[in-house]
Amino acid sequence: MIVPPKVSAPVKIRTLRVRAVIVPMQHPHQTASGSVSESPLVLTDIEADDGIIGHSIVFTYTRAALKPTAELVQNIGALIEAQPLAPAEIEQSLAKRFRLLGTQGLVGMALAAIDMALWDALARSHGVSLVSLLGGTEKLIPCYGGVGYDGVKGSAQAAEAWAKQGMLGVKAKIGYPTVRDDLEVIRAMRSAVGEELAVMVDYNQSLTPVEAVQRLRKLEDVGLTWVEEPTLAHDYTGHALVAREIATPIQCGENWWGVLDMQHAIDAHASDFMMPDVMKIGGVSGWMRAAALAQPRGIPLSSHLWPEISAQLLCATPTAHWLEYADWWNTIVAEPLCVEAGNAVVDGTLGTGVSWNEEAIARFAA
Ligand SMILES: [Mg+2]
Repeated sequence: MIVPPKVSAPVKIRTLRVRAVIVPMQHPHQTASGSVSESPLVLTDIEADDGIIGHSIVFTYTRAALKPTAELVQNIGALIEAQPLAPAEIEQSLAKRFRLLGTQGLVGMALAAIDMALWDALARSHGVSLVSLLGGTEKLIPCYGGVGYDGVKGSAQAAEAWAKQGMLGVKAKIGYPTVRDDLEVIRAMRSAVGEELAVMVDYNQSLTPVEAVQRLRKLEDVGLTWVEEPTLAHDYTGHALVAREIATPIQCGENWWGVLDMQHAIDAHASDFMMPDVMKIGGVSGWMRAAALAQPRGIPLSSHLWPEISAQLLCATPTAHWLEYADWWNTIVAEPLCVEAGNAVVDGTLGTGVSWNEEAIARFAA
């Protein structure tokens, strides 16, 4: 008689721990709407009853949101204790539970913190990387480095530094007083990095749709890989107007809350390329749904911040495009994402690749 193999009892969630840190930036990041000099982060650890611990990072942008977000993660964590370590299942039950309040803003951030930590724990408990757990394999994902709103000289210098590090592209924040200033910055970066690297620009929502069309017409001949968020992130018809009028690809996505926002953008033809943010789109569960929406339409998908987990997710994304590399949180991560010859290396990573440098966390505790 053939005895079928026994299915082992499901691993359950034991406890959740939440910590808040404020990580200073080595080089404050200038934007058209002010300087970012630190990262307030909520760090979540979810321990399963097999002793495995999953980790995640969420970024609250401002100190004002740090404590409330940490408390939300803690409070939502209490709802999942003793449940099976089944992230997709938990994501659905929490979405239901928060339907009346809504799952955007801080609630969405807290849910993403839990979702990412659960997927990390699940991959670790199987002894594999997130991409393996999702049924994918490691791939080469090209990386670009970000350049702040640093003027002509500063932008060229920052772009050159990324090129020297081997990045395959650079992306600058623009939206200077005139389009001539924008062009000057782009040309200075191009001459600093040479013809081979991709050059992208980001208006961080600073133009009206009409201004965007007028400006971007003047940027058509400078070989930009994309123009990001020329107008308000949730003005899909405004972005559609710009995308229709301009040949350079439009890139949006970092401010979409959940895949329904992405669906609205797709319906409106708002963006040629898309770059969800793993936190705002809803963690690993949300990202995989975004990848599924992009695939049948052939929409190239890039990431926003979160280099470690994003590299894993891009490897499992059929239309993977670029990884936005940022080293902002490297000090608190035990093994920051490795980039070789401009490509993210996820080979041999366990889970999402996020684990802690405890010494740095103690130093930056909020
Ligand atoms: Mg951006």
